[in-house]
Amino acid sequence: MPELALADGTRLPYELKRSSKRRSIGLRISEQGLVVSIPQRLSLRELEALLYSKRDWIQQKVQQQAAAKVPALSWQNGETLWLLGNRLPLYLAADSRNRAISCDGSRMDVRLTDISDTSMIKRRVTQWYKQQALVDFTRRTELLVQKLGLPMPPIALSSARSRWGSCNSKGEIRLNWRLIQAPPHIIQYVIAHELAHLKEMNHSARFWAIVARLFPSYRDAEAELRQLSRQLHRID
Ligand SMILES: [Zn+2]
Repeated sequence: MPELALADGTRLPYELKRSSKRRSIGLRISEQGLVVSIPQRLSLRELEALLYSKRDWIQQKVQQQAAAKVPALSWQNGETLWLLGNRLPLYLAADSRNRAISCDGSRMDVRLTDISDTSMIKRRVTQWYKQQALVDFTRRTELLVQKLGLPMPPIALSSARSRWGSCNSKGEIRLNWRLIQAPPHIIQYVIAHELAHLKEMNHSARFWAIVARLFPSYRDAEAELRQLSRQLHRID
């Protein structure tokens, strides 16, 4: 899937449709993402120039879409959280002596002095997610990087609004902690994508061939991640 680099550094994958009947370029942004329809003979360079000139508009539309649907978390008892794609109902209990978060894989228990303090609940839960994320992402990266015959890169967590992973020229990989809410194969895909950048710092055919070696069904995962995006951003 081709990708458009937005001003904030986000890569927005889009679907490209060529049609001999089209005379102009059409841009459509829906829940499924961006679809670009172009005349059969439009060159790649013309397409890229056009998308570049429209990228602020595209970004704005994508963000509007994202904000529109999924209601924000209100951090009430019984609310659904997610961990590795599994539902995790939130149980709050007032407890001033034993404040803790625990999770047995089927529910998340948060004990706090004041369970109406939603910003504290959010802070504690986010902190817990980040701890889980770092352990999980590190372990998955260790396994995948062996397939590339590369040394383990430094892993850090990010909280970027719209970006799931990044890899810099020093070979450091940053992964969005919110991914820990997603099913394992989605996390796996994002890590494979960033690890492939250790070999190819671009989105060339060579790059995608490396991704495919690590994660063959990367196209499906990319599409699924786009659909999950809002859900994963319920914790802002
Ligand atoms: Zn990339």
